[in-house]
Amino acid sequence: MNQLRSLIRDVPDFPEAGIVFKDIAPLLGDAAALDKALDLMTDPYRDRDISHVAGIEARGFILATPVAVRVAAGFVPIRKPGKLPWKTVKTTYDLEYGTDSIEAHADAVAPGDRVLVVDDVLATGGTAAAAVELMRSLGADVVGVSVLVELSFLGGRAKLDVPIASVIVYDD
Ligand code: AMP
Repeated sequence: MNQLRSLIRDVPDFPEAGIVFKDIAPLLGDAAALDKALDLMTDPYRDRDISHVAGIEARGFILATPVAVRVAAGFVPIRKPGKLPWKTVKTTYDLEYGTDSIEAHADAVAPGDRVLVVDDVLATGGTAAAAVELMRSLGADVVGVSVLVELSFLGGRAKLDVPIASVIVYDD
């Protein structure tokens, strides 16, 4: 775990002043670490009959697709508005200042489907909670959320009512 942690780089004041960005690029670039991280993200959800893994744009896509392959599920993209070509559904959520939205294709999942939501970082939890809501709006069951990095001091877990698996947790 310390080996994985050592491959996540803190970038102060990116993309704006006051934010410490968790850059996972060094971990993604290390074959053994990437394989291990994907296994750890997948393990809690093996044998859970997952039908689809929904990845949140953009770094969530990188992790969600190999997790989907590991549990023999399909991949579903969740994107910023205006990016998906087909008919979409949208969820809007609050940010510190203002709101943001995410979309999925209206036929991406359906009642009876069992979805795992994947992203790189769980921070305040707003994005993951919106993704859960989006999948539920299409009638799917959300089995859980899996992230590579959790910034636990931001309290994102409190926004979610599904199990959350995180590989690397930062307490401060
Ligand atoms: P939140 O909705 O606050 O949980 O933010 C989660 C989303 O923002 C994820 O898609 C992350 O990629 C991104 N994010 C938030 N904070 C950070 C951070 N400190 N480092 C890297 N990505 C972050």
